Order: sequence, then structure tokens, then C-alpha cells
Amino acid sequence: MLQLEEARERVLAAVRALPSERVSLVEAMQRIVAADLAAPLDLPAFDNSAMDGYAVRVADLKAASAENPVRLDISQHIPAGTEKIAAIGTGQCARVFTGSPAPAGADAVVMQEDVVRENNTAIFRETVKPWENVRLQGEDVKAGAVVIKTGERVTAGTVALLGALGISEIAVHRRPTVAILATGNELREPGQPLQAGEIYESNRAALAALLAEAGALPRLFPVIPDVLDETRQALRRAFDECDLVVTSGGVSVGELDFVKDAFRELGGKMEFWRVAIRPGKPFMFGSLGEKLLCGLPGNPVSAFVTAAMLVWPVILRLQGARDVEMPSQFAIADDVFINKTDRRHLMRVRVDGNGHVSLAGLQASHALGSLAAANGLVDVPAGGMIERGVTLRVLRFSA
Ligand code: AMP
Ligand code: MG
Repeated sequence: MLQLEEARERVLAAVRALPSERVSLVEAMQRIVAADLAAPLDLPAFDNSAMDGYAVRVADLKAASAENPVRLDISQHIPAGTEKIAAIGTGQCARVFTGSPAPAGADAVVMQEDVVRENNTAIFRETVKPWENVRLQGEDVKAGAVVIKTGERVTAGTVALLGALGISEIAVHRRPTVAILATGNELREPGQPLQAGEIYESNRAALAALLAEAGALPRLFPVIPDVLDETRQALRRAFDECDLVVTSGGVSVGELDFVKDAFRELGGKMEFWRVAIRPGKPFMFGSLGEKLLCGLPGNPVSAFVTAAMLVWPVILRLQGARDVEMPSQFAIADDVFINKTDRRHLMRVRVDGNGHVSLAGLQASHALGSLAAANGLVDVPAGGMIERGVTLRVLRFSA
């Protein structure tokens, strides 16, 4: 049985990033960049005023004080967006607004609140420091600087910067289409009446919801009965139509667990089976040509947790992401976390807004009430205990 770290390494080693496509800046949000992007221009692109006020020559105001006010001629008005502007000479200043280009000769802007205006003259009662209230060309971003690197994620902040640089389209990796399959004779579609012994199929929706957060384009396939032929046919179709195949159920040791056999019959290569985690031991991973199969256990919490730990990184790496970790945060334990078993336990927890974390409820692998109450997972080592008050890392699968 593999440890989680080894399983993650083996899974990631098998993934190749999908090809890139060009998308508009707004569509690029949350996508992974496929090529380094350099700034095509300086930001600011030209020296400009940070204030509504008067562009001046510092030397002209050297002697200015309340007792000795200095008068300068207002030689021009420069609204933002002005194209050609004249230089200001000694004894002159220019009326400027936030974003107005600084005229040649000016080396500071005095805010209008500090200036008294008389017709075409401005009166100054204070000195000004060189480049005060001037935004200098290139002080934010220099032309040619790499502003986002291959493998990084586009955030709202990146969109803002790229927009200011005039970039309207960028190359990002394609998002993977992910076939989501569920096996089990006992499973009914939600919305249908249940017969005795049947349960509602819930893993497909849950996995689609979770994996979409990582950037997957989920496609739900019909429920597969526990029959070898039908399992093989469903897998065949899923591999034909999608970039990645994720199944739930049918990977344990029961005689009705057909996913592994069906996959082998298709020519699939089983890379490994079983990982030393709780919940979720019977996870299987295989490859069929270029494509991959993640076979998750059927128990809904096991399926969810193994998807979070092992499929999430696959989805990100398929998109070319360098960082494939789930978001995480440090929090202070408000409960004691005890794991008496010989496998590490990924416990369902809830972190509050003040960074305190407590158990979300019943931790059995079928218990969904605690999964719904949880917003994260805590990794408690085999035979280990985490005391109250300890700071620990929480993997966040939901806000
Ligand atoms: P299996 O891994 O197929 O042995 O399933 C383990 C447990 O999870 C059984 O109690 C199944 O009924 C349940 N289960 C399997 N698949 C699903 C599913 N898609 N939705 C809800 N429960 C499931
Ligand atoms: Mg089953």
C-alpha cells in the first residue's frame, strides 16, 4: 500500500499538460498561463500627475513660505488624455489633473488644496520636494519585465495588470474534460423514487462540484450497473470522449467490483491500487495510452477525500499548473484530534473566521453530514494525536 506522498508523486509523474488555447482576458480568470508574458510597455507609460493641482519646477518654489508667497503664471491647462503639451519655463506652472501627463520642465505637482488661484496666476506658500505627486514612468512595471510566468494562475489582480498593459488575449492551457462515472446496482438517480435497498447516487454531483473548483469541465455519465461488460463499455466511451476518467465504486475486493477488470480488458495499465489513508484506501490509478483513470472508492466521503487529495492535483497539472496544492491555512485546534488507526486520517473540520478549527462531526466514511458541515481537512498521522491549542495546517476545499 502506498503512502499518500508517493501516490501523489506517481500520479503527477503520469500527467502531461494539455495543449494551450488563446482566450480573452476576462475568460482567462483562474486559468493557468501557458507562456511567460512580458510587459509590452512601461507602467505608468509616461510621467503623470497623482493629484489635481499644479505642475511646477521645484527650484521656483525654493524660497516659498507663508510670509513669502511665490506667484507663478499658469501657462497651460493639461486635462488627462492630452496629447501634445508644451514645456513649462521658469516662473511658469501648468494646471493638471490626476493622470495628466507631466509637462517637460516640471519636476513636482502641488495639490490644488495648497494653492491659491488668482486669474492666471497660482500662489504657493510652501516648498515642494522633487517629484512629489508625480507618478514616474516605469516605476510600477518596466517594459520587458515578466509579469506572469508559465504555470501561474490568472487572478483578478493579474487581469487588472494585463488590462493596463493593453493585453486583451492570452495563451492558457486547456481545461480538462473529466468523465465522471458511478458504479453500483443499488444507485438511483436523484429525483427518482427509491425501491427497498436502493440509495441515491450522489458521488457524481459531489465530484463534479469539487473538481470544477480545480478547473475541470465535468461530464456526468449514466450510472453503471455492477456488470463487467457494461462497465467496460462505459469506460471505453468515457476514454473516447474525455481527457480524464474518474469513477466511483467498484474498486474494492468484492466479486461485484468490476472497474479494475474492465479497465484491464480495455488494455489499461494499472499503475497502483490502494493508498494508506482514511477514508479512501481502495483508490486506484491507471493509464490507457495518454489518458488516465482515477478509480475512487464508492463511499461518498472516501470518494470526496481521495478526489481532493489525488485527483485535484491531476486536474491542475493537466492545466499546466506548477502549484497543484489545494489552498490551505494555519489554524488553532479547538478540539483534540485523535487517530487510533494505522493509517493517517484526513478528518473533516470546520475553520472559523478567526482561524480556529474544530471537528465537523461523525468521521465515518459514509457520513455526509460532517462533510457538508466541513470546509477543510486535517491530516492526522497514524496513531497520532493533535492537542488543543496546537497550530496546524488545514486544507481548504471550500470557503
Ligand atoms: P463500493 O466501493 O462500490 O463497494 O461502495 C461502497 C459504499 O458506497 C456502498 O455502501 C455503496 O452503496 C456506496 N456508494 C457507492 N457508490 C455510490 C454513489 N455513487 N453514491 C452514493 N453512494 C455510493
Ligand atoms: Mg459498489
